[in-house]
Amino acid sequence: MTLATATLGYPRIGKNRELKKALEAFWGQKSDEATLRQTVQQIRLANWQTQKDAGIDHIGIGDMSLYDWVLDWIGRLGLIPQRFQHLAGLDQYFAMARGREGIPALEMTKWFDTNYHYLVPEIAADMEPKADFAEFLAVVDHAQRVLGSRAVPMILSPVTLLCLSRREGDFLAHLHRLLPLYRELLTQLAARGTAEVQFHEPILVTSQGVGLRTAIETTYTELAAVGVPIQVMTYFDDLGDTYPWVVALPVAGIGLDFTRGRNLELLQKYGFPSDKTLGVGLVDGRNIWKIRPQRVMPIREAIQKVTKNLRLQPSASLQFIPYSAQRETNLPAPLRQVLSFAEQKLAEVVLLAHGGEGNAEKLACLEAQWQAFAQFSPANPTVRERLHQVTPQTLERALPYEQRRPLQPQLPPLPTTTIGSFPQTSEVRQLRVKRKRGEITQAEYEAAIDAEIARCIRYQEEAGLDVLVHGEFERTDMVEFFGQQLAGFAFTEHGWVQSYGSRCVRPPIIYADVARPQPMTVREFRVAQSLTQKIVKGMLTGPVTMINWSFTRDDLPRREQALQIALALRDEVADLEAAGAKMVQIDEPALREGLPLKRERWDEYLSWAVDAFRLAAGVAKPETQIHTHMCYSEFGDIMPHIERLDADVLSIENSRSNNETLWQITRAGYKHQVGNGVYDVHSPVVPTVAQMVHQLKSGIAHLPLQQIWVNPDCGLKTRRWEEVIPALKNMVAAAKILREETHATPE
Ligand code: GLN
Ligand code: ZN
Repeated sequence: MTLATATLGYPRIGKNRELKKALEAFWGQKSDEATLRQTVQQIRLANWQTQKDAGIDHIGIGDMSLYDWVLDWIGRLGLIPQRFQHLAGLDQYFAMARGREGIPALEMTKWFDTNYHYLVPEIAADMEPKADFAEFLAVVDHAQRVLGSRAVPMILSPVTLLCLSRREGDFLAHLHRLLPLYRELLTQLAARGTAEVQFHEPILVTSQGVGLRTAIETTYTELAAVGVPIQVMTYFDDLGDTYPWVVALPVAGIGLDFTRGRNLELLQKYGFPSDKTLGVGLVDGRNIWKIRPQRVMPIREAIQKVTKNLRLQPSASLQFIPYSAQRETNLPAPLRQVLSFAEQKLAEVVLLAHGGEGNAEKLACLEAQWQAFAQFSPANPTVRERLHQVTPQTLERALPYEQRRPLQPQLPPLPTTTIGSFPQTSEVRQLRVKRKRGEITQAEYEAAIDAEIARCIRYQEEAGLDVLVHGEFERTDMVEFFGQQLAGFAFTEHGWVQSYGSRCVRPPIIYADVARPQPMTVREFRVAQSLTQKIVKGMLTGPVTMINWSFTRDDLPRREQALQIALALRDEVADLEAAGAKMVQIDEPALREGLPLKRERWDEYLSWAVDAFRLAAGVAKPETQIHTHMCYSEFGDIMPHIERLDADVLSIENSRSNNETLWQITRAGYKHQVGNGVYDVHSPVVPTVAQMVHQLKSGIAHLPLQQIWVNPDCGLKTRRWEEVIPALKNMVAAAKILREETHATPE
C-alpha cells in the first residue's frame, strides 16, 4: 500500500548560500530591494521544484523568509512594537531583525532545542493586531500555480506564537484578539480553493503543553469552522500528557515526531481517531543520517497496526540540515553514502511511503551501505575500554575545593583576565586561507601565528591583566578547531545551515569513536607562556559544547559521545599541565542549549553533561586551577549541576543582565570563584572605568570579594583591537580602584 507524503519546511539559505550573499549586498547598499526579492523568489521556486520532483504529495509552503519565519508572522499580524512603527517596508523589517542607531532589535533566541534563532515577538498589554496577508497570499497563489493542490500553506499557530513572545497582559485575551485575523486568513485561503493548511504547534511538546488545553481547543474549534482542512504539526518531542486531547481536536490531521520521545507508546496506548490523518514523522529532519531500515520498518508497521490513514513526512522542517550530501565528494564514500541531507531525506520519505513491498531492492541497498559504513568506521577498542574503566573516582579532583584553593596560584584580589580569544583580524583569517591553499608552509603559518601570540601577550601585559591567554588566533571556530584534530569527526564543504538571518554555520559531523592522536593546544600554549612571567591559561572547548554544536551519531547515545570527547580533553589537560600550565579553562557556553524540552528530562541530561565535564577536568592536579566559561546562561534553575561541575572559577556573562546572573549564583550559596563579566563584548562601545566600577561594586554586594574575578563577558574575537585595548585598560583600572577602596590585600 502506498501512503501519501508531506513536508513541513525546507532549507531557506539557497544551495550556495545565495540568501546570505543577497542580504549582505543589500545591507551594504550594493544591490536593491528588487534584486534581493528576486533571489528569495529563486530559492523558493527551486525548493518547490525539488520537493515536487521528489514526489512529495503535500508540500509545505510559505516558510521562505528574508530573515526569519517568526518575524514574518509578526509582520503579517501587525505585531510591530511601538519603536518601529515610524518605519515601513524592508526598513522596518530589518530594523526589527537587526536594530539600528538608537533602536534596539527584537530579542533573538533559539527555536526550541535547535540551533536556529528566531526573533521574539513583543506583545504589549494593549496590543492591537492588524492583518497584512497580501504578500503571504501572493506566495500561496504562486505556489498553487506551480504545485497545484500539492501546495500546503504553513502557518505559525497563534498559541505557539504567543507562548514564544515577551508579553504583557492576559494570554487568552491576546489569543481572542488574534483569532479573527487567522479566521480571515483561512477565509481568504478557502476562497482560493486551498486544499489544506498546516498549523505549526511545536509548543505542545514542551512542559508548557499541558497548561494550554483551553487555548488550543478554543483555537482549533474556531478555526476549523472556516472549513479549510487543518493539519496540526507537532515536532521535536512527543505530545506527553497532551496526547489524548490533542488527537481529539476537531481538525483533519495531526503530525507527530516518531524520532524523538515516546509518541509510539502514546499512540499504542490511546489509539488514534480513524477519521484523522496521522502525519508520521519517521525520517529525522534534525540529523544527517540515512534511515536504518531495520530500525524504522518495525516502527512503521507498529503505527500501521493502530491506524491506516497515514502520511509519511520528515520529523520536522528540513531547515536544520544542509541541502545535499551528494556534493560532499571530499568525504570518504562509505561515509558519504550514509549521509542524508534535505534532498536525500525527501527520497527517504517517499521510499518509506511506498513501504517495503515495491522497494525491497532500495531497502537492501540501504542496508548494504550501512554495513559498508560499519566496516569503514569500526569501534575503537582502546577508547571503549578506557570508558569502561571510568568510575565515579575518575571524575573527582584529588582534593575538594577548599583544600585545593590554597595550593593554587595566589593573585591580587579581583584578579583580571579575559575569556580567551582576541580580535580575529582579516590578516589572521587570510593566513588560514593561505595555509589551506598551500600558499604558505606549515612553518610559515606557525611563525605568523606566533607573531600574533607575541603581540597579544605584549598588549595584555601593557593593559596590566593578571592572567593572560594566547589569543586563539589558530582557531577558526571553537568546535571546528578541536574537531579537526580529533579522530571521529568529519567536515563538509557545503553543509551550511542557517543559524539566523544571513548567518550560516557548518556543524562538524561526529561519525565514529573519538580519539586524540596528538596534543591539540600545547604548542601555542608553550609559545605564549615562554613570553611572559605571568600565568597563561590553557584554553579548551568542553565536551558538551562540542556535542551540542555538532551533528552527532545515531548509533551511540549522546552521553557516550560526550564522554569520549571528554577522555580526549582529559589527555589534553594532562599535557597542558605537563607543559607548565597552572590554569586551564574548559569552555561550556552551550551547556544549557542541550536541555531537553521537557523539564522532567533535565536531570538526566545534566547528569551526563556534568559527568563529561568532570571527566575532562578531573585529571587536573589540585594545584591546577580549572576555569570554565558560560555565556548567555541563566543559572537559577540548574545551580546544583553547576556546583557539581566543581570548576575552581566560573566566568559568566553579567554585563547586560543587571547582575541578575550573579544574583542567581549567590542565592544558591555558590562557594567557588566567579568571573564577573563586566565588559559587554557584543557592543563596539568601549565601557568606561566608572561603568565597570559601578558594576563591580554591586557585584561585591552579592559575593565576597575573595570569590570575584574580573573579565569581559565572552571572547573578544569579533571586536577590533582599537576597541579591545582601551576597554581592557579600563577594566584593569576599575579593578584597581576597587582593590584600593576596599583595602583588599593579597591573601
Ligand atoms: N574561549 C572562547 C573565546 O574566547 C569562548 C567563546 C564562547 O564562550 N562562545 O572565544
Ligand atoms: Zn562566551
